[in-house]
Amino acid sequence: MKVLVGEDGFKVESSSQKGVFYKVKPEKPECSCPAFRFRYLRQAVVCKHVQAVQEYLHQRKGKVYEKILGFVKEIGEVDAVTLLERFGEEDVNELLRRGELLESRGKIRLLE
Ligand SMILES: [Zn+2]
Repeated sequence: MKVLVGEDGFKVESSSQKGVFYKVKPEKPECSCPAFRFRYLRQAVVCKHVQAVQEYLHQRKGKVYEKILGFVKEIGEVDAVTLLERFGEEDVNELLRRGELLESRGKIRLLE
């Protein structure tokens, strides 16, 4: 399913009507398609457009994590501030929380 990322958020193309796009807010979740309004409000089931965006975000996150882990692996031990500045606090902290990265005395390295 085609997921477009624009300034005003995510849009996913309808699978039955080419050229028709629905606006998706994955964090709410919310979608402008009729199925969402009908099903989510009644059964708390998200539509395939919301699922497509969630999947897209999941894959993109995976790539970011791979990049961070690859960077640390290459260097061996990275200054924590450098890593946070380069990749952002949120993603680095998540890897620390998961235990894939270890921090000691201001240095970050991979879990061996
Ligand atoms: Zn939808």
